[in-house]
Amino acid sequence: MRFEHVLVVGAGQMGGGIAQVVAASGRQVSIYDAAPGAAERGLATMQRSLEKLAAKGGAPADEVLARVRVVDQLVAADLLVEAVVENAAVKEAIFREADATLPPEAILASNTSSIPIATLAAVTSRPDRVIGMHFFNPVPILKLVEVIRAPTTSDETAAAIVELACDLGKEPAVANDFPGFVSNRILMPFINEAVYALRDGVAEAEAIDTIARLGFAHPIGPLALADLIGLDTCVAIMNVLHEGLGDAKYAPCPLLVEHVAAGRLGRKSGRGFYEYA
Ligand code: NAD
Repeated sequence: MRFEHVLVVGAGQMGGGIAQVVAASGRQVSIYDAAPGAAERGLATMQRSLEKLAAKGGAPADEVLARVRVVDQLVAADLLVEAVVENAAVKEAIFREADATLPPEAILASNTSSIPIATLAAVTSRPDRVIGMHFFNPVPILKLVEVIRAPTTSDETAAAIVELACDLGKEPAVANDFPGFVSNRILMPFINEAVYALRDGVAEAEAIDTIARLGFAHPIGPLALADLIGLDTCVAIMNVLHEGLGDAKYAPCPLLVEHVAAGRLGRKSGRGFYEYA
């Protein structure tokens, strides 16, 4: 399956990045976001990213952007990649609508960080063609795509998405459908524990991040990474792990919840554990 036309729903930091790498692979992309102006802001971010990549020998930005069009509703395509806010009810509504809009042979994929794919497959008439396609932030740079198979996902669907990920220049790793899959079942408790260390006064944020960078050879510390991901997304993922796995150890740290309530969402709001210009 070549997926000539891909519909990306959600034009935030992930949707924009996904649209960019799909367009860079030569495919047509339609991008839809419910918030007024969000898709246009996504295009501006894509332009800046593509210009940086073009300066290092990548394709000209205009050539890639010519394959991306903003749409004001869901449209027919060969593949949906959903990248809206980490909220099961919002995603289910999109999967319902996509099931009615995209042709029956199209595949419906979610970039969810944690929500079981089976719950999204269950609201469609094509559960064999529903799958997780979990990119990593920043999408144009990070190589991994975690491919999540629900119990209903067919071998053909999984193979087609693995092949697509390779064609986008990514490295796929296949996981089964558990809350948080592999990546966030490991990453989020690590971030959450770093927030507890900060709350308990074990060290300042900079020291916690320095210990992870220099001691564990991580490229970025857990608190800076939480700011990059978005603290609202981190809380949403911890809640899915907590409810889905039924273990108190996954409850989000109260300091993380307080920051989100105060609008300190990380880089996207200019303030999280650190301040951003
Ligand atoms: P974001 O807040 O940057 O963007 C979400 C976008 O979804 C917003 O532009 C919003 O307007 C749009 N949206 C909300 N409801 C919508 C609807 N009903 N229809 C269309 N658009 C709608 O969030 P993000 O960081 O891009 O995360 C998006 C998804 O990707 C989430 O499921 C998240 O868990 C996942 N994810 C995030 C990261 C990360 O590092 N941030 C990494 C991997 C996966």
